[in-house]
Amino acid sequence: MATEAPVELKDVTFAYGAGELRRNVLREVDLSVAPGEIVLLTGPSGSGKTTLLTLVGALRAMQLGSCRVLGQELAGASEGDRVKLRRRIGFIFQNHNLLGFLTARQNVAMAMELDSRMTEAGRLARAGEMLAAVGLTGHEEKPPSQLSGGQRQRVAVARALAGSPGLILADEPTAALDKVSGQEVVHLLRDLARGQGVPILLVTHDPRILDIADRIIAMEDGRIVPATTAASPAPEPAGLPPPR
Ligand code: ADP
Ligand code: MG
Repeated sequence: MATEAPVELKDVTFAYGAGELRRNVLREVDLSVAPGEIVLLTGPSGSGKTTLLTLVGALRAMQLGSCRVLGQELAGASEGDRVKLRRRIGFIFQNHNLLGFLTARQNVAMAMELDSRMTEAGRLARAGEMLAAVGLTGHEEKPPSQLSGGQRQRVAVARALAGSPGLILADEPTAALDKVSGQEVVHLLRDLARGQGVPILLVTHDPRILDIADRIIAMEDGRIVPATTAASPAPEPAGLPPPR
């Protein structure tokens, strides 16, 4: 069986507003993410990155074009189908979106709440393992307010991966972090996703994290534009003799 791309967009066009205020913010976007691939989406503010991510994440209804995600066609999909798909996706946002009245462990366990095969004790234990995997052993019972920004975002990474998702979608996950914690968070995300073979579509304009990408694509004014492939290691300078 040929492996289907986890994300496959064809001719996606999207507009907000109605009547005279209607404006296309996505225009004929084609995009695919291969199994296990880490794709970074860059581009200026307002270019449509978040809108694209919310369509792929089934958080918004499609208008024109085709968007297949984890085998589900989202064009014309019912709200019920979209809800089902969302449960198979791990989301990471700029501001972690943790619940303040839950501990780190409970926040992570929440991602598995809909998995009826697991007991509550099993979920809490698995949450502890995920928190250990992101380096937060000893912080399991703390609420978000007692964690640093970087630690909170690591909890968000643990939560996104805890439910064994088929896809990770991240929107500016390092925007609120300093350089070091930002890099730590995305490196953890990359390593854990690679370990599980989970593809990632990550929106960022943080040049400090482009190294995690298998592929970088750029958007401008609602369109995908050619971008440099800075992800692969720089080629050896040609024509120079090897150092002695
Ligand atoms: P990016 O994430 O690249 O900054 P967005 O997808 O958030 O871009 O926004 C693309 C365009 O759509 C912008 O012009 C923005 O103002 C507009 N926009 C975003 N969300 C909405 C909304 N809910 N209603 C109307 N316009 C929106
Ligand atoms: Mg955005």
